[in-house]
Amino acid sequence: MEKAEREAPGAYWSGKARQLEPYVPGEQPRDRKFIKLNTNENPYPPSPRVAEAIAKALEEGGESLRLYPDPACTELREAAARHYGVKPEQVFAGNGSDEVLAFAFAAFFDSGPGAAPVLFPDITYSFYPVYAGLWGLSFRNVPLTEDFAIDTAAYAAPNGGIILPNPNAPTGRPLPPDALLSLAESQKNHGRVLIVDEAYAAFGVESASVHIGEYPNLLTVHTLSKSASLAGLRVGFAIGDEGLIEALCRIRDSFNSYTLDRLALAGAKAALEDVSYYREINRRVAVTRERVSAALSALNFTVLPSAANFIFVKFPRLPGAEAFAALREKGILVRRFDRERIGDFLRVSIGTDGDMDRFLAACREILAGKMEDGRWMLDEEAR
Ligand code: PMP
Repeated sequence: MEKAEREAPGAYWSGKARQLEPYVPGEQPRDRKFIKLNTNENPYPPSPRVAEAIAKALEEGGESLRLYPDPACTELREAAARHYGVKPEQVFAGNGSDEVLAFAFAAFFDSGPGAAPVLFPDITYSFYPVYAGLWGLSFRNVPLTEDFAIDTAAYAAPNGGIILPNPNAPTGRPLPPDALLSLAESQKNHGRVLIVDEAYAAFGVESASVHIGEYPNLLTVHTLSKSASLAGLRVGFAIGDEGLIEALCRIRDSFNSYTLDRLALAGAKAALEDVSYYREINRRVAVTRERVSAALSALNFTVLPSAANFIFVKFPRLPGAEAFAALREKGILVRRFDRERIGDFLRVSIGTDGDMDRFLAACREILAGKMEDGRWMLDEEAR
């Protein structure tokens, strides 16, 4: 190898590392103080019991950290089982639901020349195609309807498995329960898996996990990042028939036996046990979501109906890139996906009422700009 080649970035990468197109998470700014409405975190603090449990796990100068954590996450799975009304053997715990999803792609979907494609919506969580790339799976995007709904009838095609979020992300639109169950039924009849990613379910839909007894092919995936205000702790779950859970354990135990550390195990268990605290803060998020949605509709925004802790909205007349930049300029971070059909939409996480009042005020100021030479002049430029 020539010196220049040896020193080129990627000179020592595997073919796999070269081919990957990694997921790019939303910005986590360290310098300027923004109102952060870009990564769907919960605006309210976690239950005080979480920090108490973590402090307890650290007693005696953190002596317990000398030992590896419980690889089976037994106590946490027991708490999750009580929370969801299932058996501990029907629960898998992982390092954030991203990890659980990555394992699920490997556990339930086949690669190789004869394998049927995995199906998921064309507009959905952008990590799905990344996992497919990581494991070398073929996939096919199923288009959302004109009004950005998932049309479950469009999934009635040979497939290697289906994954979809409910509510969908980044649209926030929920699926009618009947549609979801008939999809689970048809997948069951064809011997295929349906994964429902319920990252945002706590803000507006009933979990499909209550149906795992009828559908041994149904896996629901959950996270404490949003509904339990614990994005910083990294804990996610899957719930499904014991057979599905065993497949996830096989993948995990071929990768890393200890995906959850002692502090995460303790904190997550405490969170699952404080149901009333979380019911209240998540109810508050949903109330704020409805208020902000109505206020934006009154300003002529396009607002998709959301059952999540974010809304997917379009400014009247203002291109998405300009709207994003104008909000950033005003100290408000939102998320924009530079993709066909949704490039003019912004995904706005629901913050506290105070955050959202500042967001609405910024939107009004931006709208007060004017059109000049065919370009939307933002208020500072228009002055
Ligand atoms: N699923 C969906 C639909 C998401 O939006 C997210 C958050 N980015 C996740 C899963 C992953 O969440 P976490 O890894 O924090 O549990």
